Amino acid sequence: MSTPAAAPSPRPFLLACPDLSSERAGNTDTPGVWHFDSGVPGKRVMLSALIHGNELCGAWALKDALAAGLRPRRGSLTLAFCNLAAFDRFDPSNYAPARFVDEDMNRVWSEDKLSAPNNQERRRAAQIRPWVERSDWLLDFHSMSNSDVPLQLTGMEQRNIDLALALGNPATIIADAGHAAGVRMRDYGRFGQAGDNGTRSLLIECGFHGAPEAHGVALDQLARFLLAADTVDRADLPAAWFAPDAGAQRALRVTHAVAAKSADFRFAQPWKGLETLPRAGDLIGWSEGEPVVAPYDDCVLIMPSTANLRPGVTVVRLAQPIAA
Ligand SMILES: [Zn+2]
Repeated sequence: MSTPAAAPSPRPFLLACPDLSSERAGNTDTPGVWHFDSGVPGKRVMLSALIHGNELCGAWALKDALAAGLRPRRGSLTLAFCNLAAFDRFDPSNYAPARFVDEDMNRVWSEDKLSAPNNQERRRAAQIRPWVERSDWLLDFHSMSNSDVPLQLTGMEQRNIDLALALGNPATIIADAGHAAGVRMRDYGRFGQAGDNGTRSLLIECGFHGAPEAHGVALDQLARFLLAADTVDRADLPAAWFAPDAGAQRALRVTHAVAAKSADFRFAQPWKGLETLPRAGDLIGWSEGEPVVAPYDDCVLIMPSTANLRPGVTVVRLAQPIAA
């Protein structure tokens, strides 16, 4: 029997909770979904926030875009406040329960789960699905329970890795295959197909959930993404939304997802994420008392978290640099 470590006290949540009382209505038949069509040919772009109800940075960015009266010059722009039912549970002093109501909404994007939706998140995803299906480019805003360093999650397709590099920010790009527990929105349908079918989808992890800086990261990503999609002109975007380019960007490919066998999982050190373990065999943590070790040299830890510890939940992913 191993002794569970004492629960760490949660980090203070300093990012203010946005008032979405007007934004949550949307301007479409789908609550929380805004859609603007320029009437001019161009990409159909979707920006989504609050897939996880306690990840507020993206909601702030969409609220700012609406407040600024941002409209597409070419193509169309859809803004979606996704899991409002979970967001309504948000409490800064106990923010973990607002991640979802019944099920993680970023693990339900497959036909078997959405054709006969039987819980809060599946019903909501089924409502939003038509907007995802009719979009060409998708940027999904998230934040993290531990790491402060923003991460761009591209999936495995080169077209999305290339877009992440073209955006110039953030510095760290993670090519990852998603989760065994279910399909993410950014991998749904055409977005998950191999090769270049004209779609692009990125999932930006803007930093720690409660960090005020995550709001600025989200705005910078929103601005860069809409420019890359040619949805707007640079002059349409407030200069203050842009952060400086990340000097050098590096791309890492996820090779392993470490899942908890049970609630008996703990890390060997208080990992923050992006630590490099120099040697194969270096200790990462213990699962039911068994050591979990780096499988190869220069193994990078991605988003270590025991915040949602249950059997089968990914607690850390392992990555290695993609050779240029
Ligand atoms: Zn998230």
